[in-house]
Amino acid sequence: MIIYKNREEIELIRESALLVSRTLGMLASEVKPGVTTLQLDRLAEAFIRDHGGEPGFLGLYDFPNTLCTSVNAQVVHGIPNDVPLNEGDVVSIDCGVKMNGFYGDHAYTFAVGEISEEVKKLLEVTKKSLYLGIEQMKTGNRIGDISYAIQSFTEAHGYGVVRELVGHGLGRSMHEKPEVPNYGRKGSGKRIKEGLVLAIEPMINLGTRHVQQLDDGWTIITRDRKPSAHFEHDVAVVDGKPEILSTFDYIEEALGIKGKN
Ligand code: MG
Ligand code: MG
Repeated sequence: MIIYKNREEIELIRESALLVSRTLGMLASEVKPGVTTLQLDRLAEAFIRDHGGEPGFLGLYDFPNTLCTSVNAQVVHGIPNDVPLNEGDVVSIDCGVKMNGFYGDHAYTFAVGEISEEVKKLLEVTKKSLYLGIEQMKTGNRIGDISYAIQSFTEAHGYGVVRELVGHGLGRSMHEKPEVPNYGRKGSGKRIKEGLVLAIEPMINLGTRHVQQLDDGWTIITRDRKPSAHFEHDVAVVDGKPEILSTFDYIEEALGIKGKN
């Protein structure tokens, strides 16, 4: 069952989403060669608690940390560890917050120092596909319109669209109905209605779409071990149109790239 939200509930989700945005913005200047993902995780947990939230992932389905940190070929659900990041790596940082009974959940893939042009392009295209998907989240459309927009744009660049993991509804639970695949047919799936709140999150591979899970029971990694990118926003349908509740502005201000992409 899809749980549609009223304006008040959407504002509460926005507050949680924006605390995630500020957390990612704080992390943006910490992501550099030599830092470990566990150090980033500790910073994020302290920041969230200092700002009146609770980490949304910690303990959820028994996940052990505040962040999912997925490096290079890791797609999503990577567990923070004490391995330092290296120049040229990319790391997807996915973060959740629970506050006032509602969740925020969003993610950004960061470059560690200078990265190759090939991977830079993968990040740009994946982020762009997220916004193309969001544009389709309006009344009258269907979930498949979001899926199609993401798939057609990223596959046109020759990338692989991960199918095993999907976006989702968001609210009092981290994962609500409906599922939002990053692949699909135009005009298919559930109709988009006022008050729908989704976490839209393309997971796009430089190589083929195939992934596997590591023995840790969490980490999803590309089968061909080529890099993957992941960007996620929380979006509500307000007055028939998509309203993005989260923001990359804090990140892009910290990185000095705001307005440049
Ligand atoms: Mg997420
Ligand atoms: Mg999500």
